[in-house]
Amino acid sequence: MNMIESNLQKIKVSLPEDVTLVAVSKTKPVNELMQAYNAGQRVFGENKIQEMTQKWETMPKDICWHMIGHVQTNKVKYMAQFVDLIHAVDSIKLLLEIDKQAKRHNRVINCLLQIKIAEEESKFGLNEEDAIALLDAEEVKNLTNVKIKGLMGMATFTNNQKQIKTEFQKIQTFFDQNTTKYPELKILSIGMSGDYTIAMDCGSTMVRIGSSIFGARNYV
Ligand SMILES: *Cc1c(COP(=O)(O)O)cnc(C)c1O
Repeated sequence: MNMIESNLQKIKVSLPEDVTLVAVSKTKPVNELMQAYNAGQRVFGENKIQEMTQKWETMPKDICWHMIGHVQTNKVKYMAQFVDLIHAVDSIKLLLEIDKQAKRHNRVINCLLQIKIAEEESKFGLNEEDAIALLDAEEVKNLTNVKIKGLMGMATFTNNQKQIKTEFQKIQTFFDQNTTKYPELKILSIGMSGDYTIAMDCGSTMVRIGSSIFGARNYV
């Protein structure tokens, strides 16, 4: 068994069955992704549209591709044909563009709203108030080719487990408070290599794990 396969196996046994494992393969070459694929992995996460598109073109077509990085509106068109889930939607403008591009391919594209939970100053993500405003906006409700399926969050990059837990609990509470009013919210995407066990305790339904599967990246 190769290293990637054994890493995947170790992670999988530690995850409940209803938690989706996104194998974050950014910066990694196709042959390494194929090792994960051959071990049964079918969900891959990338943070650059061009890189994801190149991998999609050469790899088997039963892979679900997740865009986990920040998305520029003018690049949505390059992935609209195949992307399965966009994790970091943080504006109505972006959502409108995803809808428009999805229509051109006669598809419905699933999206998550990125919620700002980190204490550190981060450029991306909605605060809770803005997320509610987005969910309630008429122009969003009328969109036919996007589905908002849940929320995504990233904790502060720190070794302080207590702080990470506090930040994950914040998005968990927000998620739990709103799943009744917005029943389409089913996915809570929290947890990476360093903090996914904490995320599991905080109700994560989807973890995004890179370096614990593929090894450290040379660049981000
Ligand atoms: C890179 C990345 C991950 C995975 O990080 P690891 O620490 O390698 O597991 C998860 N989520 C996002 C948004 C990322 O950019």
